[in-house]
Formats: sequence, structure tokens, C-alpha cells
Amino acid sequence: MDCPFCGGRMEDCYLESNSFLYLTRTLHPIMGPVFASKRDKIARLNSRRDGTGVPVHICPSCRKVVFSY
Ligand SMILES: [Zn+2]
Repeated sequence: MDCPFCGGRMEDCYLESNSFLYLTRTLHPIMGPVFASKRDKIARLNSRRDGTGVPVHICPSCRKVVFSY
């Protein structure tokens, strides 16, 4: 995949966590995203079946990350 920002070649890797990864509209620094309202959660990126991470593409030149949700 080519980087949509600079056009350089992107590398395949993983965004990994010891817990679930969420895409949210606001940050939840005290309780974390698990307790966010349903309206605030856009997506949970990984399931127990997916394991600890999701596949992403990184651009080593401009340090951008691209992933699907
Ligand atoms: Zn780039």
C-alpha cells in the first residue's frame, strides 16, 4: 500500500495492546473507553478472536498509521 499522505511505500505491522482497542469520539482518561457511552464508541477494533492486535500500515517516512475499522 502506498501512503496516502506522502506516496511512499507503507509497511504491514500490528497495533497491539494488552486489552481491547476502541475508536472513540472523545478520550476517557479516567475510566477508559470500556465505560464510554454507546454513542461515543465508533468501533471496538479487536475481539477476543482477533487476539491482542489489529493489522495496520505504517509509513516510515512521515510516521502515519492507516488501518480499517
Ligand atoms: Zn507517508
